[in-house]
Amino acid sequence: MTTHDTHTLRELDHAHYLHPFTDHKALGEKGVRVMVRGEGIYLWDSEGNKVLDGMSGLWCVAIGYGRSTMTKAISEQIDTLPFYNSFFNTTTVPAVNLAHRLSQLAPPGFKHVFFTGSGSEANDTNVRMVRRYWDLLGYPDRHVIISRHNAYHGSTMAGASLGGMSGMHEQGGLPIPGIVHIGQPNYYESGAGMTREEFGVQAASWLEKKILDVGADKVAAFIAEPVQGAGGVVIPPDTYWPEIRRICDKYGILLIADEVITGFGRLGRWFASEPYKPDLITFAKGVTSGYIPLGGVMVSDRVADVLIRQGGEFNHGFTYSGHPVACAAALENLRIIESENLVGRVAGETGAYLKQKFTALADHPLVGVAETSGFVAGLNLVKRKAENVHQQVAFDADLAVGMVCRAHMFNNGVIMRAVGDRMIIAPPLVMTHAQIDEMVGLIRHALDLTL
Ligand code: PLP
Repeated sequence: MTTHDTHTLRELDHAHYLHPFTDHKALGEKGVRVMVRGEGIYLWDSEGNKVLDGMSGLWCVAIGYGRSTMTKAISEQIDTLPFYNSFFNTTTVPAVNLAHRLSQLAPPGFKHVFFTGSGSEANDTNVRMVRRYWDLLGYPDRHVIISRHNAYHGSTMAGASLGGMSGMHEQGGLPIPGIVHIGQPNYYESGAGMTREEFGVQAASWLEKKILDVGADKVAAFIAEPVQGAGGVVIPPDTYWPEIRRICDKYGILLIADEVITGFGRLGRWFASEPYKPDLITFAKGVTSGYIPLGGVMVSDRVADVLIRQGGEFNHGFTYSGHPVACAAALENLRIIESENLVGRVAGETGAYLKQKFTALADHPLVGVAETSGFVAGLNLVKRKAENVHQQVAFDADLAVGMVCRAHMFNNGVIMRAVGDRMIIAPPLVMTHAQIDEMVGLIRHALDLTL
């Protein structure tokens, strides 16, 4: 195995590398951890420590690390044609084949895809596409897009504006005009005195209220993640999404499902939003398992027909839209997901096993709630537990218990992310029962150390 000079790497990192979402000064004092290798569900750092990756990188690596057929597909495409664009009446073989494959996997009524390089670019595409759709139909005032507080839709100007992260809005003059937000369907935060089902209907009603406040004739679309990921794995009540669809239908508003995290099997369906029939679906991450960057928008016939028939040129695109190497990687990744029945396993045995094992962590003195949806899961760290989840007592924010817990996790061999006092995972879909046992055991041990 290659040896690494960790000290030098840390110094060079601090001297030259501005990391995303990072306090550079604080990172320099702590010293960055250098990841050097991945295999299956495990990673190794430059000091030889092995860690189980409970986050699939960053919600990406569905098929696990080190898959040799991915290496083959990617290198063969680089040998054949490393790059060509899809502008100016050209295309490439992998881009065509991937567009076709995605149309087969998408819910009924989706035949077209627009490729981007990332999830953020895909959400920027959504903003321009839905506004263009309404312009073409003769409603140029219908430009407002409704999103949710604490949503994450990317880091570009439009993506971060769609997102509802207050820390992001405070920097760089966001949100851009024409984007407004409603509350998130977070039962623990806002559902006191209600059943989950009642709260789901109430949270959906905030959309109708906002539509009426803005004026229905001004609203282009509503965008939301099926389960809010970066916001802390916020799992909506079952009543939420059917109500959202009903409200969008009532006012003719387009529904955009941001499936950057949930797409390609993470919630036990190829696309989690299939039951509530979105009009546009944002994807990225799991489409290539993160081996090569790729994103895009699945465009329903409702939208595509208008863009194509009435549209003329859509003045939008990226150099790397439909990048042939990324598309070749996606085709092989999707083949693996299908041939190993990963979607079916998450919907069935491994999803059920993760639920059984992860929710059992709720007996730990620090854990208020522990829940899963497919292969995402979250638990709340609480200072004092109570039978009624709304009577549990939170830790003082300045104790930053989540960050302490995250450090114990990492130092003891498992990656879990902290969002405030909510600890979350999104493990690779290839996990076996034994690996789930191992992961939950490591989590419990780190919780003990946090006590
Ligand atoms: N949308 C969602 C739901 C995401 O979770 C993310 C990234 O985490 C994005 C969009 C942005 O994707 P990217 O980081 O590829 O631009």
